[in-house]
Amino acid sequence: MIPVPFSPAVRVLECPRCGAPLEGVGEAVRCRFCGAVSVVGPRDDRALVAHGDAFADERARMLAQRPGPPLPGYGPYSLSPNPAGFEGTEGKPYAELAPRLLQAWEAIRAEFAAEHKVRDEYRAYWVALVLDTWYASEQDEARRRAMLESALEMLPGSGCRHILRCHMANAAARALDFASADAWLASCDPHADDEDLASNYRLSASTIADRRHEYARVLELLGPTLAQAPNATMRRSINCAEARVSALEDLGRVNEALAELKMSIAELGPGVVAALLRTKRAPQAMARYRRSSKGFVIGAVVIAIVAATLVVWRTC
Ligand SMILES: [Zn+2]
Repeated sequence: MIPVPFSPAVRVLECPRCGAPLEGVGEAVRCRFCGAVSVVGPRDDRALVAHGDAFADERARMLAQRPGPPLPGYGPYSLSPNPAGFEGTEGKPYAELAPRLLQAWEAIRAEFAAEHKVRDEYRAYWVALVLDTWYASEQDEARRRAMLESALEMLPGSGCRHILRCHMANAAARALDFASADAWLASCDPHADDEDLASNYRLSASTIADRRHEYARVLELLGPTLAQAPNATMRRSINCAEARVSALEDLGRVNEALAELKMSIAELGPGVVAALLRTKRAPQAMARYRRSSKGFVIGAVVIAIVAATLVVWRTC
């Protein structure tokens, strides 16, 4: 595997035969695992446009591919409802869901290899993003990179590609590979005309700023108050709250971090504390919250349960 697993300087796709990461560009790129030879062209790195009339048509197409009637509050790129074959999987442990995801992804890959297109873009997008979370939790960066880049290859819409590139930027930033993170995000649309796309962009940019220790920039990106942070889903709202509390404390503004923590818990529940416990961020604000909260012992039990449930699949 390449030393920086999310570098856009190289092509890394899944082998069409065995699914293993396949590196390189050319007429005859050979899989190191199964020996299959593939033709790998250069990646399309053109700037994505996710606003305007053409994008409005693309959003409508995505909306039409989603199962059932449109749900209030859920845009075409939200991960609810689940596609066919994954009904009722909400709350299932990832370990139980992963074999089904991998099987579905293999079928999508085979379909693309045979027909040079995916028949159901929403389903492929959904499976890729849920699989991304699974690979991230398993810390399987090599397969995660190959799957994300293969999804970029297969999904034609600029909205899906924008979100996949945001995920790639997040992964690179978490690996402290900032040049790669910037490069993946550079071709996303900073003026995307969709709430999910816009909030994914701001959260990815704030993750990069956070890992660079640019905490004032994190607050600038996520808004001066919780209410102004991008909050298309509960999961994203919790990520935002965790980032804001951490940034305030890292700027030395511990009182504000504590106030933000309390406000976030009142608004979003104990998932915020669970997220901070997991990342071990904002230790001073957390210690002061523990001292000031009489119900913390009971709360801690709840939080531990919530922390455990974070390894299960949830859309919001
Ligand atoms: Zn192979």
